[in-house]
Amino acid sequence: FEAVPSQIEEGEDQEQVEIPLWRQKLEEEDEEQLERRPPVVAILGHVDHGKTTLLDAIRDTSVVDGEAGGITQHIGAYQIQHEGKTITFLDTPGHAAFTAMRARGAQGADIVILVVAADDGVMPQTEEAIAHTRAAQVSMIVALNKMDRDNAAPDKVKQQLSDMGIVPDDWDGDTIIVPVSATEKTGLDDLMEAILLVSEDLEIFANPEGEKFGTVIEAELTKARGVMATLLIQNGTLKVGDTVIAGNSCGRIKAMFDHTGAKIKEAGPSVPVSVMGLDDVPKAGELFNVVESEKIAREIIEEKQLKIERNEAELDSAANLEQLFARVQAGEEEELRLILKADVQGSLEPIISSVQD
Ligand code: GDP
Ligand code: MG
Repeated sequence: FEAVPSQIEEGEDQEQVEIPLWRQKLEEEDEEQLERRPPVVAILGHVDHGKTTLLDAIRDTSVVDGEAGGITQHIGAYQIQHEGKTITFLDTPGHAAFTAMRARGAQGADIVILVVAADDGVMPQTEEAIAHTRAAQVSMIVALNKMDRDNAAPDKVKQQLSDMGIVPDDWDGDTIIVPVSATEKTGLDDLMEAILLVSEDLEIFANPEGEKFGTVIEAELTKARGVMATLLIQNGTLKVGDTVIAGNSCGRIKAMFDHTGAKIKEAGPSVPVSVMGLDDVPKAGELFNVVESEKIAREIIEEKQLKIERNEAELDSAANLEQLFARVQAGEEEELRLILKADVQGSLEPIISSVQD
């Protein structure tokens, strides 16, 4: 159960592939019960290349109006309809300090849209986004933005991308490159087409009746409603009254809203929801799941914290070992008996020789 796009070339100098937890959990689901779900798309790219403008343009042109009368809530994710098909968009923070979060953005997505300004070309964060996308084994579509600019140089950018192994399909490669202008709102239909086309070839499934879990997109403490958390449901059907646990925070869902701010009672796979009722602000990117009761949730959290404390205690004894080494080196101790354990064959030898030095 993997979405392994053809454009990932092995043996290249790239980050280590890390299968996200939610994908691992999906493998435990009954294959018979898996159903297609809407693709989840993250938009990545260099600062100022137009991510936010593009997300807003897509939202403006095709967002599904909610019952609340289309009052768009900025909950960090939204859904649109294109030719009767639903697409979920994630809004990941663009600031340079959020590298880790952008990496998680790629991990939660089925498809990454890499925004590259046609007048500026490949920049450091473009390269970083490519690395994250490859590491997460997610398919990529390039949106060549700012095509309305006089100095747009699409062929130059295509060459830069090709040099990085991202070869445009019109140059006999595997990557769809869509020229767009986020400000002029041109090329957006082609971009939606491309997303649906790429989705068809991917295994985008979930079990709506299965274990309930997903990823925290963002969360904040509000004055009026307490903790509000945006959750992307990745499996199962989340309902008001469910007890959610995410990291060290937990609580029963008191109310649930869709991306338009409309109150809803339940939501299935690929739907981003905003929930009220958690006792603490969970971290973005954290996996959430549902447990039977708040009592069980608290026990799980306590257990986790105990484990962390135990690990810290172990670190303390490691420090003691260092002191022991220091005493040996200072001649205070003459003999040091060690038991060395290694989990990989062949890794023991170099350790023994380094200890003897
Ligand atoms: P982000 O940092 O990637 O989110 O970039 P923004 O969406 O904030 O856009 C950065 C600047 O580029 C803003 O001034 C936008 O108005 C401008 N911009 C974005 N898309 C386009 C476009 O298609 N054409 C032109 N001419 N300007 C654009
Ligand atoms: Mg932005």
